Amino acid sequence: MPYIVKTMDKLKKNSPAQTEFYQAAEEVLVSLRPLIDSDSKYKKHNIIQRIVEPERQILFRIVWLDDKGVARVNKGYRIEFNSALGPYKGGLRLHPSVNAGIIKFLGFEQIFKNSLTGLPIGGGKGGSDFDPKGKSDAEIMRFCQAFMTELYRHIGPTTDVPAGDIGVGGREIGFMFGQYKRLTGRFEGILTGKSLAWGGSLVRTEATGYGAVYFAEDMLAERGEVLEGKTCTVSGSGNVAIYTIEKLYQLGAKPVTCSDSRGAIYDKDGINLETLKRLKEVEKVSIENYTKEHPNAEYTPVADYPKGRNLVWTVPCYAAFPSATQNELNEKDAADLLKNGCVCISEGANMPSTPEAVELFLEAKIAYGPGKAANAGGVATSQLEMSQNAGMEAWNFETVDGKLRNIMRNIFINSNETSKEFGDAGNLVFGANIAGFRKVADAMIEQGAV
Ligand code: NDP
Repeated sequence: MPYIVKTMDKLKKNSPAQTEFYQAAEEVLVSLRPLIDSDSKYKKHNIIQRIVEPERQILFRIVWLDDKGVARVNKGYRIEFNSALGPYKGGLRLHPSVNAGIIKFLGFEQIFKNSLTGLPIGGGKGGSDFDPKGKSDAEIMRFCQAFMTELYRHIGPTTDVPAGDIGVGGREIGFMFGQYKRLTGRFEGILTGKSLAWGGSLVRTEATGYGAVYFAEDMLAERGEVLEGKTCTVSGSGNVAIYTIEKLYQLGAKPVTCSDSRGAIYDKDGINLETLKRLKEVEKVSIENYTKEHPNAEYTPVADYPKGRNLVWTVPCYAAFPSATQNELNEKDAADLLKNGCVCISEGANMPSTPEAVELFLEAKIAYGPGKAANAGGVATSQLEMSQNAGMEAWNFETVDGKLRNIMRNIFINSNETSKEFGDAGNLVFGANIAGFRKVADAMIEQGAV
């Protein structure tokens, strides 16, 4: 596979120390081999070298005042990766772990994910190493305003439309939107995930979690199985995790875990969704408080996890939904899941399983839905928000949820059919990567080498 070695060598040389980006790029490149070998046009047009290089990378300084009046400095990023299919689209992440490599990995994945939705959106991603934890509302607002003071000149309703990701929910989108309007004097759809009162879409909040469960439903239906009556595990306790849990209950399954960066809850009676939503969405406190109201549930701090493991994946389940962050499920976790009878993984988070864990899932031939397919419901519904903004419309819940359901089904069908076309039936990593890539690559070729 000389093109893979050549490309990876070049990336490592030109973009040093971007481990997560190399991981994401290598996974895609390895999957593409049968397509590249069977159709010479991709080599002829040098698509591989072109697609791993972002069209534009914007790095900037953010200065904001804390509550004591002290000027604080963070790094800001917006990586506009690929616009072959439409305006750049992808979230903004606020987390201290953010660096150029993380944003590049997320932006790269976003290209193929957005392509899989079948909607006209290109791939991008952004964020900052700002840590929202422990900050007052006023500090969050000043940070978001300072962030948008630079970002506003790079985005627009037909050029680049960011959304939320880790650390960016409705509150942050509101502060950023307000600042854009203040700076430009324009009220337009430059962000998605907006409040319903001023341009948001119903179902956007629920979309990623609901979508990941719809994707699991489709993978299982293909095998004649259902989620109803089954025990499930979920990691994370943010936007994706909460609405994964909600949809699992709606389908008659029992989600028994959730987690955050400090620990995990195991509630054998099923996670109480009302308590979880109040703790995370209203009070914005640690899930540790869950056991005060549900004494039968167990809370385990990260320090007490088995060494090198994530406690959530030691809990026996039928289906697992990693919904926190990248590389949160390693080889040992995967082995435990399989040993305990797990037959379905649907990734709400981006790249939550390490390459070794993915290998085990594929070898075991369980229903494995990689993030770029399984969590595409969020960005798909963001595009539905853009559509409503452009047409000055507001669709009802059933309409948007119906469209989301169809999009997730089509992503499954497209990935599954492509896996069969290239001789590895049911391998959705392979199917999603090839299907997502082919559409973008063909558009790049048609648009010429510029
Ligand atoms: P939130 O910020 O709402 O929640 C993130 C959750 O993950 C929190 O419970 C957080 O815990 C936990 N978490 C974050 N970092 C770590 C870490 N290093 N170790 C352990 N736990 C961690 O984010 P989202 O729910 O929006 O995003 C979750 C994942 O889903 C991310 O991978 C994101 O890229 C992906 N995703 C999100 C989409 C969306 O629409 N929101 C769309 C597609 C993918 P704590 O609160 O303690 O930090």
